[in-house]
Amino acid sequence: VQAGDRATFARVLDLLAARYGTRGRAGRLSPLDELVATILSQHTSDINTARAYASLRETFPTWEGVVDAETAAVEDAIRGGGLAAQKAPRIQSALRAVRDESGAFDLAWLAERDTADALAWLVSLPGVGPKTAACVLLFSLDRPVMPVDTHVGRVATRLGALPPRAGPLQALHEVTALVDPPARMLEAHLLLIDHGRDLCKALRPRCGMCPVRDLCDYGTAMKNAASTA
Ligand code: SF4
Repeated sequence: VQAGDRATFARVLDLLAARYGTRGRAGRLSPLDELVATILSQHTSDINTARAYASLRETFPTWEGVVDAETAAVEDAIRGGGLAAQKAPRIQSALRAVRDESGAFDLAWLAERDTADALAWLVSLPGVGPKTAACVLLFSLDRPVMPVDTHVGRVATRLGALPPRAGPLQALHEVTALVDPPARMLEAHLLLIDHGRDLCKALRPRCGMCPVRDLCDYGTAMKNAASTA
């Protein structure tokens, strides 16, 4: 798949959908809740994220309570999610920035902004990078923006659609631009994650079993190398 080759990428998605099936959205959080949950999800599993988020909401029923609390108390509440010492101040800073912007702990107003503006505002928050911002935009606001996590980035790079050293913002824009129609963004995101977990693993991808090998730069190179060895 060459960068920007939407037609070939659509075939990749069709083949992945045939293997993994298509899943719908698991549920929807408000944009602010999604922002906090996504900060909690950085460098940890979905299970740990859910546990830490539930614990945070139970300990502090309001976002105001999180901002007013000692950072150590927030850390304690989210310890099950890992990296609590980094995430607690990030969450408090992001919540403060949201309150400073709109006077309330609410991001519903983001729906009024166009996607580029909303993305720019989100990544201006402390501790919020392009992937976290894209999660808020895609999962809560249905904006066609690809969160490029470790799986999505690895699969897209091996396919040949993303330069190996693309930065987070470039990766977001390049993978987003590949998805046609944009309404497939959530499906594409979930399929690339499924594929990264199942066959296109970080160590030893299982290219021999992969349904998209003939469309993949890495898989094709490995196949050619094996046949000339
Ligand atoms: S052929 Fe290999 S590297 Fe390419 S997508 Fe499939 S598993 Fe990943």
